[in-house]
Amino acid sequence: MAIAPGVSAQDWAATLEGFAAAVGKDWVFTSEEDLALYKDAYSPFWGEPEEKHASAAVAPQSAEEVQAVMRIANKYRIPIYPISTGRNLGYGGSAPVLSGSVVLDLKRMNRVLEINEKNAYALVEPGVSYFDLYREIQKRGLKLWIDCPDPGWGSLIGNALDHGGGYTTHMYRVHFDAHCGMEVVLADGTIMRTGMGALPGAKTWQQYKFGYGPWIDGMFSQSNFGVVTKMGFWLMPEPEAYLSGTVTVFKHDDLIPMVDILNELENNGIYNGMPFFGSPLQGPLEPGEQLRNPMAPGVQALFAKAGGPTPADFEAYCAANNIGYWAVKLQYYGPPEVIRAQWNYSKKKFSAIPGVKLEDGELLTMPLTEEQKKKVHGVAFGIPSLQIFFIGTRSESNPTPGLGHIWFSPIIPRDGKSIFEAQKVFGNAAREMGLGALNPLQLPGTYWQRAFIFIFGFPITHDPAVNKKNREAFEKLVKICADHGWGEYRTAPAYMDAIADVYSFNNHALMRFHERVKDAIDPNGIISAGRYGIWPKHLRKA
Ligand SMILES: Cc1cc2nc3c(=O)[nH]c(=O)nc-3n(C[C@H](O)[C@H](O)[C@H](O)COP(=O)(O)OP(=O)(O)OC[C@H]3O[C@@H](n4cnc5c(N)ncnc54)[C@H](O)[C@@H]3O)c2cc1C
Repeated sequence: MAIAPGVSAQDWAATLEGFAAAVGKDWVFTSEEDLALYKDAYSPFWGEPEEKHASAAVAPQSAEEVQAVMRIANKYRIPIYPISTGRNLGYGGSAPVLSGSVVLDLKRMNRVLEINEKNAYALVEPGVSYFDLYREIQKRGLKLWIDCPDPGWGSLIGNALDHGGGYTTHMYRVHFDAHCGMEVVLADGTIMRTGMGALPGAKTWQQYKFGYGPWIDGMFSQSNFGVVTKMGFWLMPEPEAYLSGTVTVFKHDDLIPMVDILNELENNGIYNGMPFFGSPLQGPLEPGEQLRNPMAPGVQALFAKAGGPTPADFEAYCAANNIGYWAVKLQYYGPPEVIRAQWNYSKKKFSAIPGVKLEDGELLTMPLTEEQKKKVHGVAFGIPSLQIFFIGTRSESNPTPGLGHIWFSPIIPRDGKSIFEAQKVFGNAAREMGLGALNPLQLPGTYWQRAFIFIFGFPITHDPAVNKKNREAFEKLVKICADHGWGEYRTAPAYMDAIADVYSFNNHALMRFHERVKDAIDPNGIISAGRYGIWPKHLRKA
C-alpha cells in the first residue's frame, strides 16, 4: 500500500482509521485499482516515475465530514488534494500536484441546495455537475439557463475555482465572476462563509458578493488555502430570443478594425454574446465545423507551398474565390426587437471596413424545440454535452488521433496587431523547436471580454521521449510568452512552477505574499501542496 510522503507507517494507519470513522470505510480508497482513477489520463509524464499519483482517496458526503477529514489530516500532517468532480482534463485531471497526496474527492457532495428563479441564482455543492444542474432546472420547468464549458460532466465549483469559461453572455461565461458567496473548510477544520454568508441568517448570500470588509473569495481560486464546500452562482434568465450575424472581411489587415469595432460594441454593452472568430478559408464558421471537415483542396495546396503560405497568397485566393479571409460570428440574446436593433447598429459600425460582408443569421425564439436543440451549438444555449470530445476522435481531417493533450493557453491583448504578433512568435517558436508549422489562420478565443486567449493542445503520447520533447517545448514557450508580456491563465500541475516563476514582478512579490498567507492559514501545509506554484514552508525551494 502507498503511504503519503513524510508520514510514518503508524500515523498513516491512524489516518486511514480516522478517515474511515469519519466517512465510512467504503469511502476510503487505497487499492491500486481505485487509485488509478485519480491519475491524469492526459499526463505529460505518462508511465514515467514523475507521473502524479495519489496514496489514497477519501470521499466525504457533507461539509461536516470534510471538517472531520481535515482535522485528522492536520493532526497527522497528511497532504490533501481536494477535487470537485475531478474532470480537469487538459489541465491535470484529478491527479494531485504533490504525488502521494490523499485526494479529497467531493463528488458525493452533489446536492443542488437552492435554485431561485426570480433572482436567478443557484447554491450548489462541489459534486454538482453542469448536467446535474441543467437536469434539475429542466425537471422543475424553470426559465433559467446555466453557462457551461464544453464538457458538461465537470462541476460548477471545480471549473470556477480553476478560472474556467463558457459560451453565453460575458456576465455568465466567466465562471468565477459569475459566482456569489462560498463556504470554505480551512486546514484546521474551521468552516467559514464569505460575502454576506458571514452574517448569520443572511438573506442575500447569493445576491451581494462583497459582504463586509476585504473580499477574499479570489484567494480560494487557483490556490491551496481551503476546501470549498458550497458556492453560489448567478444564472441567466432564459432570453426571449437569440440572433446571430456574421461579419466577413477579405484582407489580412482588416482583422485590426474588425477587432477594434467589436471591442467598442462589447465594452458599450451593445453586443452581449460570445464572439467566434475564424477564417472562412478553413470552412464554415461554426464551432467545431472547421475541425470536423478538411479544408478545400485549393487552401490545402497553399498550406503545402514550400515555406508556407503568405498573407498575399491567401488574399489572392480569397479574391479569386470570393471567400472571406477572416470572419466573426456574433450572437445576441434578448427580446427580438432589442437584439435586431443591436445587430443593426453593429452592422452600421462594421460597414466602415471597405468591402465588408454582413450576413443576418436566423432569429430563434425560446424555448428551443427538441429539433432546434440538436442543430444549434448547445453550449451557446446553456445546454451541456460531451460533444467536444469529437476533437480527439478519428475522422477524415484527423486520421491519427492522439491520446489527449495539455492546453497551452496564453492571454494576449485584445487587438488585431497582437494576434498577428502572437501568430508570428508562436509560428517561429514552433518551427525552431521542431513542432511543425503553426496554422497561420488560427485565431484566439474570446472567453474573457477584455483579453484574447490563444489555446493550443500539446499532444500527449505514451512515448516518454516524445513527451519529454513536448514538455521542454512547453516550458520554452512559457518563457517566450513572458518575454512578450503574455502569461498563461491556467495550467496543469506539470507546469505550475514554471509558469508561477514568470509572474515575477518585484522579485516575486506576489508569490511571496501567497506564501505568507499559506503559512498563516495552513501552517502544516496540508492542502494541495504546490498548486499554482504555492508550496508549504517544508517543501519550498529556495
Ligand atoms: C476537449 C476539452 C475541452 C475543454 N473545454 C473547456 C471549456 O470550454 N472551458 C473550461 O473552462 N474548461 C474546459 N476544459 C478543461 C476542463 O475539462 C474543464 O474545465 C472541467 O470542468 C474541469 O474539471 P472539474 O469541473 O471536474 O474540476 P475539478 O477537476 O474538480 O477541479 C479543478 C481543480 O480545482 C481545485 N478544486 C476543485 N474543487 C475544489 C474544492 N471544492 N475546493 C478546493 N479546490 C478545489 C483542484 O485543485 C482541482 O484539481 C476542456 C477540456 C477538454 C479536454
